[in-house]
Amino acid sequence: MAIWNLGSINIDLVYRLDHLPRPGETLAARSRAQGLGGKGANQSVAAARAGSATRHLGAMGDADGWVADRLSEAGVDMAGVARLADQPTGHAIILVDAGAENAIVIHPGANRAIDDQGLDRALAAIGPEDTLLLQNETNGQLAAARAAQARGARVVYSAAPFDLEAVQAVLPHVSVLAMNAGEADQLFAEMPEVPVQGLLITRGAEGAEYRDLTTGAIHRQASFRVDAVDTTGAGDTFAGYFAAGLDQGLTIPQALRLASGAAALKVTRAGAGDAIPTRAEVDAFLD
Ligand code: ATP
Repeated sequence: MAIWNLGSINIDLVYRLDHLPRPGETLAARSRAQGLGGKGANQSVAAARAGSATRHLGAMGDADGWVADRLSEAGVDMAGVARLADQPTGHAIILVDAGAENAIVIHPGANRAIDDQGLDRALAAIGPEDTLLLQNETNGQLAAARAAQARGARVVYSAAPFDLEAVQAVLPHVSVLAMNAGEADQLFAEMPEVPVQGLLITRGAEGAEYRDLTTGAIHRQASFRVDAVDTTGAGDTFAGYFAAGLDQGLTIPQALRLASGAAALKVTRAGAGDAIPTRAEVDAFLD
């Protein structure tokens, strides 16, 4: 039982401003913070903190050792992450105004230079007890999903940022498709029947649902009421904890409750990867 996560690794650079800059405007930021981000890295941290053996697959630049250290400290196995000399680590420039509205620019860098053959080699060791996690911030999803499916592993695809072409290509190799409500609306508009075993849809403060399309059962989980400070990474915390819950043999309702508790705690804290709670914190919150 292990989670293999093909995912992005980003350095998040967060600048707080009085307002978002208008075209041509130069602004001095009130503060700057640097942290671990990228949907993939966040989901690996969540799965590892949930207590699952977690192996990250991907690529980053050959500098930025602190980023790899942060993931390792969270318990993520980084042996499957290539360190590229010719590509920088992915990064996101996140501008946040006084009203918490944001504007984000991502430079994918090494996240889009992952070697398909390397993925095939790494996934030669995945088995039917294991789970492959995927998102849309890297290349290589199709190669990885095929390799994992061929070896009988569960494939959980967190289809964000939404990309219809990517979803259509990867879907035949997926067990569980995870989306937020906006992404689900976009997908259903194009594809009213989604051919997958399970659909996980998160709806922010309103809750989440899991539709088992093989039995028709729908499991609903309300969100816990908390004082939200920063929802960055809430979806990733949910996806990582949910996949870990399945990996650990929890039932769907148990995995939904665990993931919902973890995501609720995350939104009470500022930051992305660094702000994801540990299993002990989540268990205490749910107690
Ligand atoms: P993000 O892009 O901000 O990471 P998302 O859009 O992918 O998030 P959401 O559906 O907004 O995903 O949130 C994921 C989960 O996080 C929700 O299902 C819920 O469990 C939890 N969550 C989000 N916002 C809140 C909130 N204000 N209060 C409690 N729980 C929340």
